[in-house]
Amino acid sequence: MRQATVYIDSEALQYNLNRVKQLAPTAKIVSMVKANAYGHGVKDCLAALANTDAFGVACLEEALEIRELGYQQPITLIEGIFSAEEMQIVIDQNIEIVVHHQQQLDWLRAQKDAYIAKNLKIWVKLNSGMNRLGFKVDEIIDVIHQLKADGFNCVLAMHFANADADNHPLNEQQKQQFLHVKEACAPILASCCNSAAIFKWPELNFDFVRPGIMLYGASPFADKTVEDLDIQPVMTFTAEIIALNTIQAGESVGYGSTFIADKETELAIVSIGYGDGYPRAFFKQNYVAINGQKVPVVGRVAMDMIAIDVTDLNAQLGTQVELWGKHRLVDDVAEANGTIGYELLCRLSNRPIRKKP
Ligand SMILES: *Cc1c(COP(=O)(O)O)cnc(C)c1O
Repeated sequence: MRQATVYIDSEALQYNLNRVKQLAPTAKIVSMVKANAYGHGVKDCLAALANTDAFGVACLEEALEIRELGYQQPITLIEGIFSAEEMQIVIDQNIEIVVHHQQQLDWLRAQKDAYIAKNLKIWVKLNSGMNRLGFKVDEIIDVIHQLKADGFNCVLAMHFANADADNHPLNEQQKQQFLHVKEACAPILASCCNSAAIFKWPELNFDFVRPGIMLYGASPFADKTVEDLDIQPVMTFTAEIIALNTIQAGESVGYGSTFIADKETELAIVSIGYGDGYPRAFFKQNYVAINGQKVPVVGRVAMDMIAIDVTDLNAQLGTQVELWGKHRLVDDVAEANGTIGYELLCRLSNRPIRKKP
């Protein structure tokens, strides 16, 4: 059987959840498990995150999957509902929603009593300059006052556009607007921290923090490693060597013959490719790890296979190759690919087998 495999380290996930608790001891933790738990597989991750206070997802389908698996914690739909029909389902299933525009407020008001009777909080989104979702600072105060007058329990919510960047001027603007609205609507619950903000601004942890990428052990910062942050990679993505070829100087490997050996070279063919979600385009030398040792990928990544240079290594058929994990960090593969760890994790296909270690 083809052995492209994703292993999920539940202990690493628990370790990272504890890191959130250390960094934000007084806040409740809304663990972000959208996009199939950032590609890790929601089922295994929910079990490991059993101690979280709540979950955050991007849509109703993702929330219902959590309920079907039997988890009863609060769930927040971070983009709210997408149609009026979804309102009844969120009430029945005890799912909390974000409201970020007038139409969603109308849908909510139409079922006001049922929503409030379930003790569900309503998350009201401030647009403080990211300009994706939310009410502007001059409208949200009225929106919240009205919701409170109607008897809703509100959470003021906001998302930073540049929490990963030092000294971006928008950070200060977003903070100031958030604090202004929080003050004007006091008393009100508040939530504005994703992973990067949890690390950077402990003073903004407030009532709920919303960690995503740090739970999975990848860095939200381009200039800080998981070691710097004391978090542990959760996913190990591996495949096996399925062929060995010795090529001579002047010979090439793979599509386009982009790698041409300059000396006798021992190549190993590994059963992984972009059909599994391994990225194809690299503008820096990319590596895999074998027994913790860095091994260069050579030639083009194909749909099902890559070639690696195992000259002077004792590689054999069946030798396990780590594409990313604890030795070859997903953040480093992403950097060589011109993207971020988030994307590589989320865009894994469903072809790799998923196993517990
Ligand atoms: C995805 C998401 C998060 C988590 O962000 P990370 O950078 O992965 O920690 C937090 N809040 C909202 C609203 C999100 O959409």
